[in-house]
Amino acid sequence: MQLTENALKIDGLSLEAIANEFGTPLYVYETAKMEAQYKRLQKAFKGTKLKINYACKALTNLNVLRFFQQLGSGLDTVSIQEVQLGLKAGFKPEDIMYTPNGVSIDEIKKAVELGVRVNIDNLSILEQFGSIYGGSYPVCVRMNPHIMAGGNAKISVGHIDSKFGISIHQVRHLERLVKSLNIHVEGVHMHTGSDILDVDTFLTGAELLLEVAHKFDALQYIDFGSGFKVAYQPNDIETNVEELGEKMSALFKQFCQDYGRELKIEFEPGKFLVSEAGYFLCKVNGLKQTTATVFAQVDTGMNHLIRPMLYDAHHEIVNISNPAGRKRVYSVVGYICETDTFANDRQLSEIREGDILAFKNAGAYCYTMSNNYNSRYRPAEVLVHKGKAHLITKRETLEDITRNQLEIKL
Ligand SMILES: *Cc1c(COP(=O)(O)O)cnc(C)c1O
Repeated sequence: MQLTENALKIDGLSLEAIANEFGTPLYVYETAKMEAQYKRLQKAFKGTKLKINYACKALTNLNVLRFFQQLGSGLDTVSIQEVQLGLKAGFKPEDIMYTPNGVSIDEIKKAVELGVRVNIDNLSILEQFGSIYGGSYPVCVRMNPHIMAGGNAKISVGHIDSKFGISIHQVRHLERLVKSLNIHVEGVHMHTGSDILDVDTFLTGAELLLEVAHKFDALQYIDFGSGFKVAYQPNDIETNVEELGEKMSALFKQFCQDYGRELKIEFEPGKFLVSEAGYFLCKVNGLKQTTATVFAQVDTGMNHLIRPMLYDAHHEIVNISNPAGRKRVYSVVGYICETDTFANDRQLSEIREGDILAFKNAGAYCYTMSNNYNSRYRPAEVLVHKGKAHLITKRETLEDITRNQLEIKL
């Protein structure tokens, strides 16, 4: 987002004009940023057989999936529905990785029927899988190296208490099952969760995974998951992708030499690819001065953007109707009948009723976590592609809210 002639623009288009054309609340994404991030990652790992699988739970609009497919990306999915969306968007089954947690063997069977790659993170389920398919359908195993990535236990999934992955302390048991049931392990995987704050912690996890990899001799790829952190505020730590690329590539090359074959190195970023490509636009319904603060009340709430309330996420807010205005202190709150505070004591350019505010970093885990609480409609979505704004999800109506309700005689 750039400040040009006093208006905030993305890809040459004024965000305020987009809000006026499509109404608020509105999610706006730019493909140019997604592409830049994808290419940055590619560049950081050049010289390796890199495969990037976009983790689509971050943002599942079919147009976004199709855009990544056209860039040459694979897809990381966590439910059978995401698998189906990926196929609908045009991904080939072999380019879709299905990494569920806590699902039944029945859902995994469906993934096998659809021909996608299957990643299993539970020994009991792997045993069932092996009993059914033996070596006839390859599988990836998700390991948990028990490293603590980042400082936030709510978004870290690799630590000792985590429900994700097969513990590296269970490798003996894993090997027993694989051998007895003749399971074809084609990949090993880890995903330690969001927010790699330092590259060396990540490398420690990677080394542990590579030790496990040596136990299997028919591997095609090693998938190091994600956890690429992007900046959510000025001076925020972000994952140094270039440093990670350099150190990981060296580590991986050495591994491949020892292993005797060059394998694919895979990553599955969500946030890194789409977070900064998104803006969430809302309108200020009212200003409310209390004895304690000045509230800016906006035409949205925790039903549309829950990250601040769910895990104290910080999203920068810009008053795009008055970007050069004098700074004043506000509490920005939603219209839901709960305490849905987006930001406390935030310095923003002076707000007038009717102004449009833009939340930054709104591409990942924002629209996909939205819901209809208070019977409010979910926002519309717009994609800015090659300098043009396209509506990609229309605004809901009352019909959408009552669609599945059946009226009985009372
Ligand atoms: C959510 C998820 C990702 C993406 O994580 P980000 O922090 O958005 O990059 C990758 N892999 C798996 C298995 C996931 O569940």
